[in-house]
Amino acid sequence: MNLIFLGAPGAGKGTQAEVVSEALNIPQISTGNILREAAKNGTEYGLKAKAAMDAGALVSDEIVIGILKERIAQDDCQNGFILDGFPRTVPQAEALDAMNIRIDKVIEINVADETIKQRVSGRRVCQGCGASYHVDYKPSKTEGICDKCGDKTVIRKDDQPEVVLERLATYHEKTAPLKDYYEKQGKLVTVEGQEEVADTSKLTLAAVGA
Ligand code: AMP
Repeated sequence: MNLIFLGAPGAGKGTQAEVVSEALNIPQISTGNILREAAKNGTEYGLKAKAAMDAGALVSDEIVIGILKERIAQDDCQNGFILDGFPRTVPQAEALDAMNIRIDKVIEINVADETIKQRVSGRRVCQGCGASYHVDYKPSKTEGICDKCGDKTVIRKDDQPEVVLERLATYHEKTAPLKDYYEKQGKLVTVEGQEEVADTSKLTLAAVGA
């Protein structure tokens, strides 16, 4: 099963993609995590991407399409994958179609902007492996420490309130049109994001038939 998770920053795409990834045993591909890793390692495209990410803007289609092509060609994607944070623009979606990659379903996690603004302030990510937590809704077992790799969890630079406003504006302008794009292809399924992670997971698992 090849899936796309769509939603505003902080809507819970990554968290739900992780749940579905475990349930279906297919990899979760987060372009945001790949870009953050590249920025941390100081690679050429990582450094280019960092400026856009820190400002709450999108990284160029050219860079992310290149990353995606390379990642999807790896062996672990043969039985399916979940795209978490890609595509984010209509040209990225068109590039995916042009690669002849069949997408089965596009799951949109719908959360109101006001809720997003409150939620993002509690998000923490592992600086080592990129795992995502939330101080209220998905805390790590030991505060400040990643359950998976033991590294420190930190606040993302782009989760600062002014950057979040910018990211939300970018989402509405550039990414939200993808809802129409996939609706027309008959692939869009909208899940209403719930207060509790587990409740959204139930709806999401049902939406993908897991
Ligand atoms: P995320 O972790 O998905 O919230 O992504 C963090 C940041 O990485 C975004 O705000 C963008 O700057 C960049 N990014 C991630 N995925 C994409 C994409 N598909 N297209 C453009 N920029 C992206």
